[in-house]
Amino acid sequence: MSEVGAVVFDTDGVLLATAERHAAAWKEAFDGCLADWAVRTGARPRVFDTVRDYRDLVDGRSRIDGAKAFLTARRIDLPVGTPEDPPGCGTAHAVAARKERIFAEMLRAEDATVFDDVRPALLRLREMQVRCAAVSASRHARSLLRAANLLVLFEAVVDGRDADTLALPGKPAPDLFLAATERLGTGPDRTAVVEDAVVGVEAGRRGRFRLVVGLDRDAVPQVADALRAHGAHAVLPDLGPLPALLAALESSRP
Ligand SMILES: [Mg+2]
Repeated sequence: MSEVGAVVFDTDGVLLATAERHAAAWKEAFDGCLADWAVRTGARPRVFDTVRDYRDLVDGRSRIDGAKAFLTARRIDLPVGTPEDPPGCGTAHAVAARKERIFAEMLRAEDATVFDDVRPALLRLREMQVRCAAVSASRHARSLLRAANLLVLFEAVVDGRDADTLALPGKPAPDLFLAATERLGTGPDRTAVVEDAVVGVEAGRRGRFRLVVGLDRDAVPQVADALRAHGAHAVLPDLGPLPALLAALESSRP
């Protein structure tokens, strides 16, 4: 068995090509409220940028934390509200609920897409007896993994529903990843984390994981730099080189 006996994968953007849909749902949720917020604040907040704002403000965060980050960035002062708020524009929770409703409607229309490199990498890791878990801040992750026939390749899953039940704080806190290692029966010192979001690699470093791998699927140099600056030990373009990277750790062991 290799020195790294387990890998915890982020789900959106790492295993499933759901990032674009999340970004589109956030855009519809935020931009649909701009007129309302202009009336409230007298300002004209900028529309949501599905590349930059998605990456900097909402990717990897829980829905409510993402909504709050956007509102803060645009200086839109709304009450936080409560998780029971119906979809709307009047509180941070209402905006988060808008995004959830829009995203759920999008999911009904389409199936989850798995990146091509995911299955071969997971099968190779299984041959290497490396245990794998999937983690997500999204409440939809487990059902999407099941729909994509990926669930069988993971020994543990921790998603947004588990985070709610266990009252785990979202990334950059390491709690979601640590809950996954607990379910795998291993420790962070023997586990690698694979993440595409800055808050996620930060969570991996805060949790003192043996190896934090940043994933830069679009090969954007600034993204790779940001992942490294926030704690990624290595940045890969896809999951293809991951098994060899873990094997190299083993062979470089003193
Ligand atoms: Mg992600």
